[in-house]
Amino acid sequence: MHLELIKLEKTFNQSILTKIDDPLLAQYQIELWMKRDDLLHPVISGNKWRKLKYSLEHALSLDTDTLISMGGAYSNHLHALAYTGKVLGLKTVGFVRGEQPEILTPTLRDMKKWGMELEFVSRADYRLLRQYKEPQLPADLRHTHDPLRYLPGLKPGQYWLPEGGAQILALKGVAELVVETGIPYDTLCVPCGTGTTLAGIIEAVPEQVSVLGFAALKNAGFLTAEVEAMLSQSRNNWQINLDYHFGGFAKINTELNAFIEDFELKTTIPLEPVYTGKMMYAIYDLIKKHYFRPGERIIAVHTGGLQGKRGFD
Ligand SMILES: *Cc1c(COP(=O)(O)O)cnc(C)c1O
Repeated sequence: MHLELIKLEKTFNQSILTKIDDPLLAQYQIELWMKRDDLLHPVISGNKWRKLKYSLEHALSLDTDTLISMGGAYSNHLHALAYTGKVLGLKTVGFVRGEQPEILTPTLRDMKKWGMELEFVSRADYRLLRQYKEPQLPADLRHTHDPLRYLPGLKPGQYWLPEGGAQILALKGVAELVVETGIPYDTLCVPCGTGTTLAGIIEAVPEQVSVLGFAALKNAGFLTAEVEAMLSQSRNNWQINLDYHFGGFAKINTELNAFIEDFELKTTIPLEPVYTGKMMYAIYDLIKKHYFRPGERIIAVHTGGLQGKRGFD
């Protein structure tokens, strides 16, 4: 691996497994653990590092001087990318969805501070940019990892990363979190935005494990096909639950907030309301609905993203 990346990875903390201690779980005979990727790094947190790692290696191998990507005004992906670019000495450009707000969000302020060039794009243009990613390519081109194939007009030295870092190379980094999990388990749960983390997990888990994704978006039925397109072979040990979006992406209500607050008090594990909060709410709800078999051991991936919590203060 590239020396700069090895140096960067040395600054990371371990992602431990934490067992959730809660009488309710005992009552339903469910063992619930969290894989704490939120602890990996204060900024390049959770699944964003997992997804970036091998794309960065690829970028560095191509003599990249600029990383370009896209995301919303609270994007954990752009936030991680801006910081990583600063550490690696690479320029970064972020296409941000929507008009420039009068007051920059805390996330955007950080990105700017770390030297990211912010380009605000209309929602229509943003939708167009979304097309430049591997799952949309014909199957025979999907695994070629040629960045110049994605975004039209890229110059040599510029490296395009699709929204959320969603490219096939991301799966290899995600697989490492699965390998680190040192205990056997029945079900692995993960929140889904683009479904890239889910795809990496599906590829890496033992066959007998069920993988359950929880969509953070409303009307996310399209995700199954997108995840399928990222997999190297078709598998049937996974599904995406669409029932816990709470009205849409980053939408919240008092019930969700109350759950998160209660969970944090009980476990001292912080959650954010966009991804991990909704997933944990869903897991608890499904446990109460006897979705899981008594005696099951579930591992939920804490995908990090706690910086985004600042948007809800
Ligand atoms: C980005 C993000 C996700 C979604 O990951 P995908 O690979 O896009 O599905 C989940 N959780 C957190 C905390 C995130 O920041």
